Amino acid sequence: MRVLVIEDDPVVGPDLVQALSEAGFVVDLATDGMDAWYRGAVESYALAVVDLGLPKLDGLSMLRRWRAEGHHFPVLILSARSDWTEKVEGIQAGADDYLGKPFAMGELVVRVRSLIRRTAGHSSPLLVIGRLRLDTHRMSVSVDDHPVRLSPLEYRFLDLLAHRSGCFLSTMEIAEHLHGRADAADANAIEALVLRLRRKLGPEVVESRRGFGYRLRGS
Ligand code: CA
Repeated sequence: MRVLVIEDDPVVGPDLVQALSEAGFVVDLATDGMDAWYRGAVESYALAVVDLGLPKLDGLSMLRRWRAEGHHFPVLILSARSDWTEKVEGIQAGADDYLGKPFAMGELVVRVRSLIRRTAGHSSPLLVIGRLRLDTHRMSVSVDDHPVRLSPLEYRFLDLLAHRSGCFLSTMEIAEHLHGRADAADANAIEALVLRLRRKLGPEVVESRRGFGYRLRGS
């Protein structure tokens, strides 16, 4: 899944990108509030990590703009100033979670995963969709209780569909979340990925509809 990190600190920003990339996310980094506001408004993100003190446009004003414009992806705020009034202000501006600096990268990754999961309506890290079971902590998958070995890309594809349960996802959206971009070549690559998954999971687990895209059956 694709996430946006907004952090102007030259050390913390790249550290966040590295930790989230290692956790399996596709990560974009923005270093000022105007650039971040624009990306959040035009691109498709599963979540944004927002530092409050930013050049050009501060984090809270940027967040208020997104929310006023109807962009409702979850937002985790980072701030060095972790007094409670600022937390309240952040929540009122539309933030979903708040982490005070300094923080442990491990905690950040766990919070990002659980925010994305809860936003998708799953209260447990174990996602059960039809015959499919995804353990989002262990990053493992089983069908009818039989474990299935998947490549990281195959897992990320299923994880993405599981978090958008019920909706068809277009090839373009899938490519943006898996690779951070979408071009014509991705359509074929995603078709090939689905064929591999159908061989591994059974033919009916991933449902496709021409013109709409893909979703998990039973979601
Ligand atoms: Ca800052």
